[in-house]
Amino acid sequence: NLSKPVFAQDEMGRPFIIVKDQGNKKRSHGLEAIRSHILAAGQVSNIMRTSLGPRGLDKILISPDGDINITNDGATILSEIQLNNEVAKLMVELSKSQDEEIGDGTTGVVVLAGALLDQALELIEKGIHPIKVANGYDKACKIAIANLDRIADTVHIDSENIDANLSKDSDLFRAASTSLGSKIVSKCHDQFARIAVESVLNVANLERKDVDFELLKVEGKLGGSLEDSKVIKGVILDKDFSHPQMPKEITDAKIAILTCPFEPPKPKTKHKLEVESVEEFKQLQEYEQGKFKQMIKDVKDAGANMVICQWGFDDEANYLLLSNELPAVRWVGGSEIETIAIATKGRIVPRFEDLTPEKLGHAGKIREVPLGTTRERILVIEDCANPKTVTALIRGSNKMIVDEATRSLHDSLCVVRNLIKDSRVVYGGGSAEISCSLTVTEAADKQKGIDQYAFRAFAQALDIIPMSLAENSGQDPIQTLTNLKAQHVKNDNAFLGVDCLGKGSNDMKGQFVIETLIGKRQQLLLATQLARMVLKINDVIVTGKDQY
Ligand code: ADP
Repeated sequence: NLSKPVFAQDEMGRPFIIVKDQGNKKRSHGLEAIRSHILAAGQVSNIMRTSLGPRGLDKILISPDGDINITNDGATILSEIQLNNEVAKLMVELSKSQDEEIGDGTTGVVVLAGALLDQALELIEKGIHPIKVANGYDKACKIAIANLDRIADTVHIDSENIDANLSKDSDLFRAASTSLGSKIVSKCHDQFARIAVESVLNVANLERKDVDFELLKVEGKLGGSLEDSKVIKGVILDKDFSHPQMPKEITDAKIAILTCPFEPPKPKTKHKLEVESVEEFKQLQEYEQGKFKQMIKDVKDAGANMVICQWGFDDEANYLLLSNELPAVRWVGGSEIETIAIATKGRIVPRFEDLTPEKLGHAGKIREVPLGTTRERILVIEDCANPKTVTALIRGSNKMIVDEATRSLHDSLCVVRNLIKDSRVVYGGGSAEISCSLTVTEAADKQKGIDQYAFRAFAQALDIIPMSLAENSGQDPIQTLTNLKAQHVKNDNAFLGVDCLGKGSNDMKGQFVIETLIGKRQQLLLATQLARMVLKINDVIVTGKDQY
């Protein structure tokens, strides 16, 4: 093979390497590069397109070690598909920020970005410079976003009577319920919507429009069925008490939260302790006993009636704890310790000497509960000193269901949170996109310069959303789109979208298919940004990879 490196020696006998065909590095350039990037991006967006909307198809994802995952959640698919194209990878990375900030709408971003690039390619082939296209897209995006503000509606959140938001016809409940739309949990829709609204309201401050997600935990636990999922006002801990004879329930718990082990100090490394006689052994044992007693005394003196420890302790310590009526939990992970400290307003104590009554955490009730069908037990810490802490406990008969339910719940938690932060919404089913598409087309007609092409391309790209929604629910995409556009223009009504679920009406407001304004705005911005990024790359040089 020509390009294999060859070893040679110079006149002094020093070895060196000759690499032939050095110019043969993998490199693509100019229009050819942009074209190949657009094709790569198109592949990602094609995968995602069929899972858009409530009738989107599921994907089976098989991880390298054979784990199977079924989902149609955009963010999950993106995070698990393995790509070997750099631009496709970039696209996945950037679109994830939609999921991180908004928690929903990742599929939409990727599909839209793919369409924008597709349209851009046509313009580029006609001879328009990629940067001109990108700039035109930016302007069109601004127009579209202004249009979103115009058509936005406000949902009602009852801040006087908080419980009213839990009722089935409240806006928050309906929003949570819509966002669960296309997910596996459709069987327990109402229940999950209620879980979402209840847990977010618990950590929300409606006056300040603030939601503290730190205090909200979602825990998936295998066993039982989806119907057993519920909201727990407190935290749960995936552990049981260290001794089976310890009480299963503690009321008015004062908790010592420790990161030091219940064991006597060990000799430092490199020192050996040699025990040569029975006396010495006894002394050692007494010393250990003394240490244990002192530790337990420290805990008792501080007024604690329960211990949560990051480390383990042996049978002897365990027995002492039991006989001193100090129920204890061992091997509690670092992040769980932190959660418990926040929830119970306790301090994490690294040394027994540091324990004081003020540092104890407080909880009204701690119970050990069996987990339905499995033999596992969990600890439920309720009535915590910080009343806002809440945990959504998801149950399900297999891991796949628990995972999908957890993800779906995450989506609807985000929707509820976003609505509390900003209660403006636009309607879904592609209605907002159609309205923006019409507005941008109108603006294109007024443009004299080259921007009009980019504007039209942008408008056409927006159409991909209603078209994919129609296609995924078995309708004729082009016919549906033209009908809807005609109705939009005729009635000046921005609420008409694709009737994915076959309810017999295109009125998305009536069906309450909503999307938050911030979410939709972010989607457009991100997709435009993504397209710009790809259009700006005209050179990819893979260093160090010679093609053999
Ligand atoms: P994403 O990851 O982008 O959130 P989804 O699969 O959740 O993707 O699909 C969201 C799209 O489906 C949005 O355009 C939304 O308006 C639309 N949609 C959701 N529910 C309905 C419905 N009941 N009827 C029509 N369109 C819907």
